[in-house]
Amino acid sequence: MSQATLTRRTFVQSAAVAGAAMFMGSALGGCLGQSDKPTPAGPSTPVLDMYPSVCHGCIQACPCKVYVSDGVAIKIEGHPDAPTSLGSLCLKGSNQIHTCYSPRRVLYPLKRTSERGAANATWERVSWDEAIELAATKIAEAIEKYGTYSFFASVGGGGAYSFMQAMTMPMALGSPTVFEPGCAQCYLPRFTEAAYMYGGADQSIADAAVLECFKGLAPLEEAKGVTQDTKVLVLWAAQPSVSQTSQSGRGMAELRARGCKTIVVDPNFSPDATKATIHLPVRPGSDAALVLSWYRVILDEKLYDEEFTKYFTNMPFLINPDTKLPWLATEVFGDDAQTTPADTPVYVCVDENTG
Ligand code: SF4
Repeated sequence: MSQATLTRRTFVQSAAVAGAAMFMGSALGGCLGQSDKPTPAGPSTPVLDMYPSVCHGCIQACPCKVYVSDGVAIKIEGHPDAPTSLGSLCLKGSNQIHTCYSPRRVLYPLKRTSERGAANATWERVSWDEAIELAATKIAEAIEKYGTYSFFASVGGGGAYSFMQAMTMPMALGSPTVFEPGCAQCYLPRFTEAAYMYGGADQSIADAAVLECFKGLAPLEEAKGVTQDTKVLVLWAAQPSVSQTSQSGRGMAELRARGCKTIVVDPNFSPDATKATIHLPVRPGSDAALVLSWYRVILDEKLYDEEFTKYFTNMPFLINPDTKLPWLATEVFGDDAQTTPADTPVYVCVDENTG
């Protein structure tokens, strides 16, 4: 897109596209809808409207209730129907009202009036029209001079309020150049590796989406007959009680209270390590030796679930010693061995009868 075609109008349209994407993202996390059951008021208490909402203090997006009096939010508390947090919020979440009404919150566009990098930078308030005009002009100049890829956006973690706006704005103008360190260095690698390693979705306890070990904790789930049957949990270099206080932290406390044993592999004496049934403070770099020794014992003593490993893992596959990858049936028996669609490889397994 040339400078001539990037007008203020197209810039605003692009912003609208980005804004719509952001709205969709927000809608997935929760919505601010008025409850049909406002909190009853006592003789001297204000009438409170309760809005089910979601804390956006970080990527966990904990469900919460916001109580409003005369249009002012006066209290936030966790939503008891939340599947893992069960009504908890961390300190940051509980204090989101201070963020909302902070006198230091930026509520309108500011333009720097001092030199860039000045020790005591000064700013002046400008109108939205002026801010949009200035941004559109600068972006258009950069694209005209260096191409669309020069429009670069960087944003913090997925909990950032402007996450989708900042990520989608360059894309709307034809640039894929976005940078999100938390996503690029943490979430996406493990998400991608999970698919490659065992064909499944991300299974990190660091993600709110991974709730298998906590299933059955919420009263709503219990009412549906979902049972909580996590007996032993291995936390390998993870500190859910600290990094996800309200959700996994709460979940861990519930599991421990129900007798779940935990094995924590961590050189640090972390909060989860202090409560572990077994704490293995491995020397950094020796994790691989530890896990291989576990495999050895599990295999030698047949401690694995045979049916599960047979049908849901690649354990029965024969490995090509040269490539260290499972043998493809076509490599051993020829093209006729491909009896499934081409994108579903057929592997060679151990024959129980012949060994
Ligand atoms: S963990 Fe805390 S800050 Fe993050 S969404 Fe939940 S309550 Fe908010």
